[in-house]
Amino acid sequence: MTTEHPDPGGGSVVCRCCGSKRVTLRGRRHSRFLGRDFDFWHCPDCDFMFVEPFSGYAIYDDAYYKGLGPDPYVDYESEYRNHRATDRMLEFDDLWRLATGFITDNIPEGPVEWLDFGCGAGGLLKYLSNKGEFRSGERTWPIRLTGHDVGSYADMLGNDGFRILGLDDLAAEPDARYDVISMIEVVEHIEFPDPVFALVARLLKPGGLLLVTTGNITSLVAAWKGLDYGYIMPEVHVSYFTPRALCIIYARHGLVPVRFRYDGAVRFKVVKTLRTPGRQRLARMAMRIPLVVRAIDGLFGTSRMPCATKPRQGRGLPPAGN
Ligand SMILES: [Zn+2]
Repeated sequence: MTTEHPDPGGGSVVCRCCGSKRVTLRGRRHSRFLGRDFDFWHCPDCDFMFVEPFSGYAIYDDAYYKGLGPDPYVDYESEYRNHRATDRMLEFDDLWRLATGFITDNIPEGPVEWLDFGCGAGGLLKYLSNKGEFRSGERTWPIRLTGHDVGSYADMLGNDGFRILGLDDLAAEPDARYDVISMIEVVEHIEFPDPVFALVARLLKPGGLLLVTTGNITSLVAAWKGLDYGYIMPEVHVSYFTPRALCIIYARHGLVPVRFRYDGAVRFKVVKTLRTPGRQRLARMAMRIPLVVRAIDGLFGTSRMPCATKPRQGRGLPPAGN
């Protein structure tokens, strides 16, 4: 992204993902929200980039949920009240398409245990709950849902009857408990991502699907914008990945990359960053042309970020067809 300098702190900073001491400073950026400078460190060993200092999780307060924090695109209340009326439906439909292809190809019969790690305002949980089951011909796979998050919305979802677990309860769950684990735009918020990948890898069944989405900081747009890239929000986006970084962390936890071609998730990313209805309408119209979506996907590198599966013992898993 920018020129690399050796660590001026004399090796005091270590990679927050793999512990390597070979980290280099990519640059420094002032951020208006907290009014301070942040350093961006890159680890050549695991291709992970992280922010120092970490601003803590207290930043996720009610103001943040309303989009009044460092990320103006957050709107928990609308999603909680009526997820069907939000643009996230584009993303949910896309994840549904990918998961349906994977499940019906790879899992012989239901029920499917699905954990949404970082379930936020619960839009995906409600979407999946409304779907109820995967279907292919005569076969059905009923869906059983669990969510994980902390904060007021997690409490409300628990009161609404969803099975919501805190981190301690999740850590106490047995191995291979879930067929699908989704982490949608979650890992960039986590200070130490490695133990989280270790946990979800343990909880995933052999043959199961780990659905991960997060920004790609080796995309053309990220390379062009550098630290001015809009995705760089150092108060809340504290951990940055590349396709290679994901492959490395998957391998460390016995997972194998699975690639999907995203469509609705790409549309959602574009629409959510356009603030005026006129621009959103134009973007929606342009993105009816599949080539436009492909081009945007190419610019942001969305489909280059792999998901993962856990190999079944004794044989490789067939690649998911998408
Ligand atoms: Zn590292």
